[in-house]
Amino acid sequence: MITYVFIALFIGLIAYFVYFQLEIADDFINNSHNARLSSFTESVVRGSILTADGDVLAETVTDSEGNETRYYPYKNLFAHVVGYSTMGTAGLEDSENYHLLSSHVNFVEKAVSDVTEEKTPGDNVVTTLDYDMQYAAYNSLGGENGAVIAIEVDTGKVLCMVSKPDYDPNNLEENWESIVEDANSESVLYNRATLGKYPPGSTFKILTALEYIREHPNDYEDYSYYCSGSISDGVNSLSCYDGEVHGTVNLEDSFAESCNTSFANIGLSLNLTKYKKTCEELLFNNSLPTNDFSAGTSSFSLDSSSGTSVIMATAIGQGETLVSPLHMAMIISAIANDGVLMEPYLVDHIENANGDVVSEESPTKYGSLMTSEESSILKQYMSSVVQSGTGTKLKDLSYDAYGKTGTAEYSDSGDSHAWFVGFAHQEGKSDIAIAVVVEGAGLGSSYAVPIAKDVFNAYYN
Ligand SMILES: [Zn+2]
Repeated sequence: MITYVFIALFIGLIAYFVYFQLEIADDFINNSHNARLSSFTESVVRGSILTADGDVLAETVTDSEGNETRYYPYKNLFAHVVGYSTMGTAGLEDSENYHLLSSHVNFVEKAVSDVTEEKTPGDNVVTTLDYDMQYAAYNSLGGENGAVIAIEVDTGKVLCMVSKPDYDPNNLEENWESIVEDANSESVLYNRATLGKYPPGSTFKILTALEYIREHPNDYEDYSYYCSGSISDGVNSLSCYDGEVHGTVNLEDSFAESCNTSFANIGLSLNLTKYKKTCEELLFNNSLPTNDFSAGTSSFSLDSSSGTSVIMATAIGQGETLVSPLHMAMIISAIANDGVLMEPYLVDHIENANGDVVSEESPTKYGSLMTSEESSILKQYMSSVVQSGTGTKLKDLSYDAYGKTGTAEYSDSGDSHAWFVGFAHQEGKSDIAIAVVVEGAGLGSSYAVPIAKDVFNAYYN
């Protein structure tokens, strides 16, 4: 009898001790600097990072002698979004460091590992990422540099995020010297999807068209312009792509056919103070409301003192405007979602080593970037691009696609990045928004649209 009492007391003591440890541990980790957090690696085996479907993207493998290796089964495929934890930390390995080194296994398991002096398994990070879409985006981008990102528009879940050039996080330590010594070292480790700053090219006509509609709410459909192939302000002239002459165009034609001359003409007519205000409402010159990862800031610099040449260039997405693929995907997702932007996020939930949910992230509404009327006009224009404009490669598929192509010049010799931004809709599934940039490739319609198509196909098939 006495033995049982002692056993009960002993178990009670362990339970109290474990409870006390778990309770204070969270506060302690929360309030500590990363350097102190590293002491937790002595008692916790770093948790895994998983796709939404549970495929392992990063895990810690322990050999028979207790040596730990961080292992990335898909090598380069998820490099930038998952990141690394060997040479400093980046990506999810950085932003989720706290969760990966926290352990919420139950009291008994914790007590057992305390007694046996074994490490406790850390919590796992279950992301919003979709393996098939990531694979499609990665393969479709192929050997080119650039970025692809896709977002579920009614939640903000990031479904895929690819950046190239890339690296194999498994060999980062061995290859660090060559990566760092490489003239483009910064660029290999750089997540272009979230941090890249590109001229938007004609994808920016979405913003210019929106501003025109805002300034002419009742008669924007009456806009008419004769495109002779070029337009001049007396100093600089600007032409439509490849010497094309579009003739008489309204606003929708100008958008679908991506008529530079007409959009430069529109730019010259805009109230620059209001134009800038619209761009800033759509988050240019602002930090992006991302939920659990960091992003760069896009820039738009026109103001009432800007000269005509830079106004014409800015209206067609050249000039000094710079934007990240993530930002364009966010603007598109708001258009697809009746004007409402959901904050993009990468972590769906945290679970313990047994798969029990520890904490969950829920979709967060940022607010409206535009009215639902404005979004439906832009949807209509983006549909025209696919039906009869520069995006016809996305026509007649099992889903309806909407979008805008871009061919963004970045050098005086005419080198250009290929862009596509858009979304897809099929009854019964959430709509998804996408942004694709292929560096130095040329025409958006030839090089970026097919990549978007592969990612849409991966989502719907
Ligand atoms: Zn034209």
